[in-house]
Amino acid sequence: MMDELAVIGSFVFCRAHGYKLCAAFPALTEAYFMDRPPISYVFEKTVPRTIGKELKYECKEHHESDCTRCFDWTATAVENIKQQAKLKNSKVMPVDISRKEKLQFLHSMGVDLPSTTRLSEDTIEKKFRGAIDDSQSFATLIARPPFDPSTLPLWSKNTCKTTLLEAVRRVNFEEAFAHSRARSAGKENAWDLFGNTFMDARQTIMGLADGLDKGVKTAMIQDKDTKYAICVRVVEVCMLNKETPVMVVLYCRGTRDAPAFDTLQWVQEVVSNRKSPALKVTATPEEQKLLLAILNLNARRLSSAYPVKRNSSGTEATFALSFLLPLGPVNQQAIGKLTRHPGCVVCGKKTVSKCSRCLAMTYCGAECQRVHWKEHKPTCNSLHGGEWAEITFSMQPTEMRLAAAMGKKLFMATWNNMARPTMDNTNIKSYEDENPLPPNIHSLNPFLIKMQRGLTSAMPPIMIYDRTRSIEAYLCRDIDLEGYDKTMAQMHTGQRGLKIYRWVKRIGDDKLSVCLNRAPPKDPQW
Ligand SMILES: [Zn+2]
Ligand SMILES: [Zn+2]
Ligand SMILES: [Zn+2]
Ligand SMILES: [Zn+2]
Repeated sequence: MMDELAVIGSFVFCRAHGYKLCAAFPALTEAYFMDRPPISYVFEKTVPRTIGKELKYECKEHHESDCTRCFDWTATAVENIKQQAKLKNSKVMPVDISRKEKLQFLHSMGVDLPSTTRLSEDTIEKKFRGAIDDSQSFATLIARPPFDPSTLPLWSKNTCKTTLLEAVRRVNFEEAFAHSRARSAGKENAWDLFGNTFMDARQTIMGLADGLDKGVKTAMIQDKDTKYAICVRVVEVCMLNKETPVMVVLYCRGTRDAPAFDTLQWVQEVVSNRKSPALKVTATPEEQKLLLAILNLNARRLSSAYPVKRNSSGTEATFALSFLLPLGPVNQQAIGKLTRHPGCVVCGKKTVSKCSRCLAMTYCGAECQRVHWKEHKPTCNSLHGGEWAEITFSMQPTEMRLAAAMGKKLFMATWNNMARPTMDNTNIKSYEDENPLPPNIHSLNPFLIKMQRGLTSAMPPIMIYDRTRSIEAYLCRDIDLEGYDKTMAQMHTGQRGLKIYRWVKRIGDDKLSVCLNRAPPKDPQW
């Protein structure tokens, strides 16, 4: 335990993340663990030194382990809390989003929770924000709010070489595939507009970027009946990195039933401005709510040091300030984390009892099981009486193993992580290192896997993974001939003959029992 902690100037830090624990300031400590970014820069300020058996941390500047000049954590903590308090006061546009709507938004982002879920309001809100943040790669792009865009260079076409529209576009493998199919079928988009709230919101952000490419900085986002509107002015576009612009925006919410006078004036100004007309975007009331949730979430993270320039006529005085990042599909791993059920699928309570018919669903008791039955029935029926076959998987596809045997180094990117710009190379796996067998996180519980055939050769390896990516393995013909052939024989039942979803149980280190002849009632969003 002590190995994981570092004592620096009478405070204790966890070595992995730089979180602070202090016996003398329990209240402070508590505050630190509540949604607070760690002050992980402690380790930037220190150098470790082993004295005898003890590991000490000295300040870089004076080489003292108890330096009072460098290690005034109390002051740092107080400053941090003040900063947070300031952020909480930052202005947002109030919007009511019901529990049902949050679940719908989560669903549109690929995060499916039972509609009957009894998870707490708080938990659902956290999942909702978590999904938004994954979509905008928040943690990767902006490590430590408060965020001050004025410290960034402005986005410029010359340095970035793409249009803003191209720069905010984020698609993954699946979406790119769906788009190219839609295009070859003569459709412009793979999705019907106003069909998926999250997709619509992403389109709207692309629309704003497209407008900016054409010199239009203001937008009115309205529903068909013009009952609700969001007025937006993009103040400036800054560059987080060469692939990622951030749009700083002033925004305001208007409703027809309770119009605000200055909003009306703003609209009038914008409409009468012939030099630079406003962009008109049609967005359902639901999409507007989702956009407001995103704007409000980010507004709270803007630094109060950012010098905002509101318009001279004063009609933007009541507007809130926020920023928009490119929105991509929510990453599979994040979806896995957000939907993982450690206990009862309905209420989250710890339990090990299961639906006795399919042994696939976990319930705390009869009541939760009853509540969920309507949703679960099709899955339960599809599993009931299925045939289970054993397969042996391999951590590397055949070619990789052969290459490794010949001493060649090969690299391979994992498939579904193309959605975001590569900030680091964590998505790139090197097969020169040996791949250890994945730990079993499912014990004997059935879980869903995706089996996807490669396109490279006549007998391509089949990629196998679960939603949380706890397993990423291959089913190769040279390792398990029978299992491979049996699985390939099922491929035609799946989407375009390329992939199938199946229930499995982990029955050994490299062995799965697969319910081969049963598919889930509908393809899960993966
Ligand atoms: Zn830690
Ligand atoms: Zn010092
Ligand atoms: Zn329950
Ligand atoms: Zn069942």
